[in-house]
This record gives sequence, structure tokens and C-alpha cells, in this order.
Amino acid sequence: MRRFRSALLGLLFLMLFLVPQVGMAALNDNILEANPAVAVSTLKTAISLPQTKLLGNNQLTNVRWLVHNDAVEGTSKLRLVIDTKDAVRVSSKLDGKTGSQLVIDINGAAVGKVDDSVTLDGKIADKVRFVKKDNNNSQVVVDLSTMIEDSNYKVFTLKSDEINKKTFRVVVDIDKVVPKIEYNFTAGLRNKVIAIDPGHGGSDPGAIGANKLQEKIVTLAVAQRVQALLEKAGAKVLMTRKTDVDVYGPNASAVEELSARTIVANKNKADVFVSLHINAFTNPSVGGIATYYYQKSKYDMLLADCIQDNLIKSGGLQDRGINAAGFYVIKKTQMPSVLAELGFISNPDEEKLLSNPQFQQKMAQGIVQGLDAFFAQAAKKGGGL
Ligand SMILES: [Zn+2]
Repeated sequence: MRRFRSALLGLLFLMLFLVPQVGMAALNDNILEANPAVAVSTLKTAISLPQTKLLGNNQLTNVRWLVHNDAVEGTSKLRLVIDTKDAVRVSSKLDGKTGSQLVIDINGAAVGKVDDSVTLDGKIADKVRFVKKDNNNSQVVVDLSTMIEDSNYKVFTLKSDEINKKTFRVVVDIDKVVPKIEYNFTAGLRNKVIAIDPGHGGSDPGAIGANKLQEKIVTLAVAQRVQALLEKAGAKVLMTRKTDVDVYGPNASAVEELSARTIVANKNKADVFVSLHINAFTNPSVGGIATYYYQKSKYDMLLADCIQDNLIKSGGLQDRGINAAGFYVIKKTQMPSVLAELGFISNPDEEKLLSNPQFQQKMAQGIVQGLDAFFAQAAKKGGGL
């Protein structure tokens, strides 16, 4: 969002020095909502007993799990119980980088004899992994099926219970977060409804390169090529804008402008949503392609993977990978969605490429091949949320 750039510039400079990995991602774009990748990582601490004396030689001894369905409430919850020989202290946090990992640090017990990992049923979490830290500390990583927030989980400990022959326990409760739409994708592009969102437009040029190339011009050019290829393959394409205009109206607020884009996709029940942007950074040598997703369903990350993969195959620019992020348009669209950054306009070599119709066509082909790969793999994954 160009209009935020000047205000953010100072902050971005600071980020460059403090946290270069975070600072590099999607600088000029869509910093509208607090990124959940940051927001969700509040540390939760559950101390078992204030004066718990941690004894040496303590170990994790057993792990069990069950999914509890409440038929009356219509909710379900995953409970994970880890037995330890003796008392431990635990702290936990959601890992913001992937957005869908719960990391629990266990202080006072080594991993011991539990398996390295336990595979779950994938309804709430896919897998639990036990990471050896040292003789006194271990870590439990829960790979979640969908993104959750702090309010969706609890970690606590239970004292040993001699009468019922129960050891000290670490308990992890995770609620199932229910997305609104059930999906059942078929392979192929024919008859699919695909929303394409060329970033910026009209009064908002987006980022501008050293040679005056405007982001809004490139995103529209690539989007029009994507539209042509998809329609040729029999898909129905919804363009959030077809020309160089604001979607909501000139000089609308950022939220009005972005929600106008998500409404196009939500109202027309698009199967997937693809937002196109070009990145920018203060250092002109930074370059490459990155794709962002917000994991509302089991398909968002797959969509990002497929599109990123094929953009790289097609374009040959540096692969900056896929990342979880809370950008407005991918969070507020109901269907699986991605935001692809097709290079850096701040990098003079990439600016030149981005203005080249042949390169624009390559990017469009990469996106269409990525969509085709997505529907093929999503069909294999079967129905579900
Ligand atoms: Zn942008």
C-alpha cells in the first residue's frame, strides 16, 4: 500500500537492522491488519507449582491423545497428555513463522523413551514431534491442520495422583477452528471460478521502481494474461478490476478498497482467489518471488505451494518460498487464497523484467500451471474443510 509507505519508512529501516528476515517480506504491501504471524506468538506460561522443585533424571514417559466431540455443542477438541516421571514447568507459544505450529517447552525433563513423533488423525493436528534439547529440557511441537489463535488452546499440568496411579502430566487442549465452507475440489481448470486480484490501481500506483515502473501496471498486465489463459482452459474468471481503476472508488480508505476486492470473490463463491503484487525493498539488490497464504482451510498452503513452485519453474527468479501472513485479502476471502509477489520492483534488473511482456506471460503461465496443479492435488486430498 503506497499510501502507508512514508509513515512506515522509519519503522522499516529499524526492521532492516533488527529483524532482517521479517523486514524483507512484503514491505510496501498490505500491512493493514496486524500480521497474525506476529500477533499469535504471545508466550503463554503455565507454571505447575510456584515452588516446584525440579529433580534431575526426569523424563517424558508416555504420550496419548484423543479427539473429544461434544455432540450438543457441535465442537471438538484435541487433548494431548504427556506423562512425566516428575514435576516439570511448561511454557507454550504459537509459532508465527508457519502460523500453524504450537510449540511447548518442557523445563525439567528430557525427552526420554517416547517416540520421536506421533501421527494424529489430521482433524485438528497432523503430528506431534518431540525435540531433544538437553538432559533437562525438551520441546513438543504440534503440527496443526489449520491456523489457530491463542484463545484456541490451553496448556496446563496435573500433579501426580498416587491413589489413581497417575504420574505428573502435561495436558494440551486444542479446539477445532471450524472454517465456514466445505470443499470438494475436482481436478482440472474447466468450469472453475477463479478470482484474480491485480493489486492496487487507479489512484493507488503501488510500489514504483527506480525507472518509474508502477506496480499497478504490472499486476494488471499479468492478471489479464492469466485471465486469457484460464478462459482458454474453460475456467470462469472474476477480475477484481479489469482496467487501471480503484476497485472501491478513488481515494477510498485502504479497508474499503481491499474489502471491495474480497467481496467480489466471496459474493460469487469463487473456488480460489489469487492476488498479484510486486514487492519493494530499500536494498535494490534484494529480489525474488514469494507467495503468502493464510491457512483458513487445509488447502491454502497447498495453493501457495503449487503457485510458488510453478512461478519459479516458469520465471527462474530467486525462490523466496511460501510464508504464512495475515494480509487482508487472503484473510477475509472465504475460499483458499494466496497473495503472490512476482519479484521486486526496487531491484532494477527485476523492474526491467517485470515490464517485459514475455516475462509477464511467463508469470501468467506459472500461475495457471500452479492452479492446475492445485486442483489436481486438492482433488486427491478429497472433501473436507
Ligand atoms: Zn502491492
